[in-house]
Amino acid sequence: MSRFFSEKYKNLTPYTPGEQPKDMKYIKLNTNESPFEPHDAVRQAVENAAGSLALYPDPECRELTALLAKQLGVDTEEVLLTNGSDEILNFAFMAFCDKSHPAVFPDITYGFYSVFAQINGVPYSEIPLRDDFTIGINDYFRSGKTVFIANPNAPTGIALTVSEIEEIIINNSESVVVIDEAYVDFGGESCIPLIKKYDNLLVTGTFSKSRSMAGARLGFGIGCKALIQDLNTIKYSTNPYNINRLTLAAGTASLNNNDYTVQNCRTIIENRQFTAEQLQKLGFSLTESSANFVFAKHPKISGKELYLKLKKNGILVRHFDKEKISEYNRITIGTKEQMQALINEIKKILEEQV
Ligand code: PMP
Repeated sequence: MSRFFSEKYKNLTPYTPGEQPKDMKYIKLNTNESPFEPHDAVRQAVENAAGSLALYPDPECRELTALLAKQLGVDTEEVLLTNGSDEILNFAFMAFCDKSHPAVFPDITYGFYSVFAQINGVPYSEIPLRDDFTIGINDYFRSGKTVFIANPNAPTGIALTVSEIEEIIINNSESVVVIDEAYVDFGGESCIPLIKKYDNLLVTGTFSKSRSMAGARLGFGIGCKALIQDLNTIKYSTNPYNINRLTLAAGTASLNNNDYTVQNCRTIIENRQFTAEQLQKLGFSLTESSANFVFAKHPKISGKELYLKLKKNGILVRHFDKEKISEYNRITIGTKEQMQALINEIKKILEEQV
């Protein structure tokens, strides 16, 4: 730390992204990326857009916003595009939380929420998941706080139904409820239609997972016009050109080729089913995942040991040290071949275990 670092941030613990090691070639099942390349049209669109890099991008992102709004069945004023969904989540902490509106989220969820709260000086509380790792919706009723829920949740993959989410919204009519749908395309149910009914709902989404565009950084928020206006105030006060030209072009091409995304999601869901069955046969217990990952533990080997042994053998999965989930590993669903390689490796590791 330098002598100059602001007092405000001295105690900040930053988010730790999943490893992106370069020392050897890994089968990367640790950051919930897609194993599939983006559609060819996306690559082509990026190449074409590269010719205009001398010019700033459209700060209103009109073309892509209109296309996304149309596909999601909302108005353009109900959409805000951001630099990954991390940015819209940060904007939501900035716009809708302060000392009189603290934040609340589950104790086991996306690790960035607590970091966003800290950097924005927002007090927050964490509500324990139930013993089976599900979210007890009643725990969030009349919270008097801005609610953040990932649905499906991470790293458990467990999803709430839209009617359960609706109950949380109805029972927090004086607070904003943010539903983070980063993983919804893998079997969850989107609550975007509810934004027409409730002025306190913000839904966030991303092109990073189902659309194979984690490297492009494109996310979005969907909410009533007034909420989106507030978020725009934050955007235009931080970085009006938050989406670069290449990403705008990539996003448009991706939306124009939805069949490809739908097919890839279907494959991931099939591979998740295969992986879950294989892991269960090997004695693992798993949560019921509706995401592009599974969350698994084995009675004979600790989460950390399995993670380290897999890593040594060229397979990266995500292990969290947090006590309540330290026996588990979160394993991103890749191609069938990648998942078969994982299963083979785990079999060997378990055989060596005495
Ligand atoms: N929400 C959840 C639950 C996530 O796991 C992630 C990915 N790390 C994000 C949001 C952010 O994704 P991105 O910024 O790539 O859209």
